[in-house]
Amino acid sequence: MSLVKVEKLGKSYNSQTKVLKDISFEVGSGEFVSIIGPSGAGKSTLLRCINRMVEIDEGKVIFDDLDVGSLNKKELRKMRTNIGMIFQHYNLVPRLSVIENVLHGRLGYKTTLQGVFNKFTEAEKEHAFFLLKKLGIEDHAYKRCDQLSGGQQQRVGIARSLIQEPKIVLCDEPIASLDPNASKVIMDYLKSITMELNITCIVNLHQVEIARNYSDRIIGLSKGGIVFDGPSYRLATDN
Ligand code: ADP
Ligand code: ADP
Repeated sequence: MSLVKVEKLGKSYNSQTKVLKDISFEVGSGEFVSIIGPSGAGKSTLLRCINRMVEIDEGKVIFDDLDVGSLNKKELRKMRTNIGMIFQHYNLVPRLSVIENVLHGRLGYKTTLQGVFNKFTEAEKEHAFFLLKKLGIEDHAYKRCDQLSGGQQQRVGIARSLIQEPKIVLCDEPIASLDPNASKVIMDYLKSITMELNITCIVNLHQVEIARNYSDRIIGLSKGGIVFDGPSYRLATDN
């Protein structure tokens, strides 16, 4: 069953040149898909169209049978609870603890968390600990997250993205700021935890090798258009 359906999507910023042109693809429930392409290809914009962080100019995005472009504010907020986001620069609140950052995912990313930690239920806190444990960082739960390494911070980012039990996680260059070892750890966790929890995953990457190693399917973007879409093993090694 398809969870995301993108139909003839077009997007430009400031009505200048098109950043995305005539993009169509579907992602099925449970798939682990990498989107690859050079910087500026439109990967980030494509992810942002899926949860409508940017407005859709042409075509359609259907997520979980909802026409994303036509939702009102309330419907959009509800839809976004089913979409976890993971960012290149983690986007954590640096002075708050790890556990608070994970619980922050319950509030939507723009809400301030100061002073509301005690309002979370025990069940919510237990769920946050469960995720930290899965990601091997439960010992750091009460540390300020800016005391953690980059790789550990991204694990906090993964836990935060999963706290609402989303149907999908959209990962925008999750390892672009990490060294090769930490990158491998993050990709391993991302793959195993989304498989275990049966969550669909779309990951923007610029490293072809990593995409090939981890994903079932690769979508290649170049200058706003799809230049490849197929099983990872079919992507020629000279791409
Ligand atoms: P990628 O993620 O593949 O690096 P992006 O989606 O970030 O690609 O960017 C695609 C193109 O859109 C680039 O030329 C970029 O400069 C432009 N772009 C991205 N965000 C904006 C924005 N907010 N305003 C104007 N142009 C933008
Ligand atoms: P990244 O590759 O991590 O997205 P960028 O430097 O491409 O980093 O983009 C950083 C921010 O600037 C993003 O929010 C993006 O939308 C915005 N941006 C990128 N290109 C442009 C542009 N040409 N004009 C305005 N904003 C842009």
